[in-house]
Amino acid sequence: MKEFEKNIRKAEPYVPGEQPQRKVIKLNTNENPYPPAPGVAKVLKEMDTDKMRLYPDPAVGKLVKELADFYGVNENQVFVGVGSDDVLAMCFLTFFNSEKPILFPDLTYSFYKVWAELFHIPYECPKLDEDFRIKREDYYKENGGVIFPNPNAPTSIFEDLAFVEDILTHNQDVVVIVDEAYVDFAGKSAMELLERYENLIVVQTFSKARSMAGMRIGYAIGSPLLIEYLNNAKYSFNSYTMSIPAIDCGVEAVKDKAYFEETVQKIIDTREWAKEELSKLGFWFPDSKANFIFATHPEYNAKELFEALKAHDIYVRYFGGARTKEYLRITIGTREEMEELFAFLGEYMQR
Ligand code: PMP
Repeated sequence: MKEFEKNIRKAEPYVPGEQPQRKVIKLNTNENPYPPAPGVAKVLKEMDTDKMRLYPDPAVGKLVKELADFYGVNENQVFVGVGSDDVLAMCFLTFFNSEKPILFPDLTYSFYKVWAELFHIPYECPKLDEDFRIKREDYYKENGGVIFPNPNAPTSIFEDLAFVEDILTHNQDVVVIVDEAYVDFAGKSAMELLERYENLIVVQTFSKARSMAGMRIGYAIGSPLLIEYLNNAKYSFNSYTMSIPAIDCGVEAVKDKAYFEETVQKIIDTREWAKEELSKLGFWFPDSKANFIFATHPEYNAKELFEALKAHDIYVRYFGGARTKEYLRITIGTREEMEELFAFLGEYMQR
C-alpha cells in the first residue's frame, strides 16, 4: 500500500443488480413493470426549462407537503432524499453514532453492512431463524440502534405491527429504523406507531410501488425531533439533493392515489398467481408480501438456473452466500412477463 493510501477511507461497495441496456425480461431489481402515474409524463412534457437556471428548493417544500398530506402527518415529520438509499445513508450517519453495535438481520438488504463499514459504525447481525424470520428476542439486548426492512429483503417476509411495536418497546433509548421499501405490497405501515414512539423512523421509496426507480426519490417519516437532526446532517453535506424534475414528478405521483392503488393491486394479483405457478413447478418460497419471490427448488441448482434464464434474456437475481445460494429472487413483472418466465421454466424442467 502506498503511503498516501493509508489515510484513505476504504469501502467495500454495494453491488447493485445488473441494468442491461437492451430490452430483456427484467425481474432482477424489484422495479415496477408499469409506468409511473400519467401526471408524471405530463409534468415532464410541459416542464419549463427556464427554471433549471435556479437551484431547486433546498427544503423540497412541495413534495414534503404532498407526502405529509398523503400520510396525515405534519410537514416537519417528513424528510426527502435521492432514493431511499440516500435517505438511509443519511439516517446511518445521523442516528447511528454510538460505540455500541447497531443490530440488523444477517440476511437483509446488503447495503446496511456497507454503510456501517463506510461510517465505521459497529454492528451485529443476529441470524434469521430456520424459516428466515427475524427473531425478536435478538433485538432485546443493549445496542446502538436497530434497522430492519419490513417486508424483509430478500426473504419477502412481512411482520405485523405487533412485532414492530415489540421491537420498539424493547428499544426506546436508541433510534429504530423500519425500511418499508416494499410495504405497499404487504400491509400496515409502522407510521401508525409514530405517535407513541419518538425514536421511530419509517423510510419509504418511490422506486417500487410508485414506479419511479429512475427518478430517485425516497423519504423518511418520523418525529419532528428526528427529522430536524436528519435535516441538520443533510444541510452539512449537500443542500440541494433533489432536482427540480424529481420534485415536480414526485408531487404528481403522490397526487394520483387511484393509479397507485390500481398498479399495486395488479402486482399483488400477479404475485399470488405466480406463487401458484411456482408451487406447481416444485419451487419452495417463503410467503411473499413484497413485489418479489425468494424461491428455491429441491432438484435444480439455483446458480445454473439463473444462468440458463439469463441466456434466454430473463434476468432474475442470484446472491450466492451460505444461506442464499440455493435461492433466486424473482421480481414480479407483468402477467405476460411472468408467463414467459414460467414457459421457460416448464421447458427447462420438462414439466
Ligand atoms: N431498502 C430496501 C430493502 C431495498 O430493497 C431497496 C432497493 N434496492 C432500497 C431500500 C433502496 O431503494 P431506492 O434507493 O431505490 O429507494
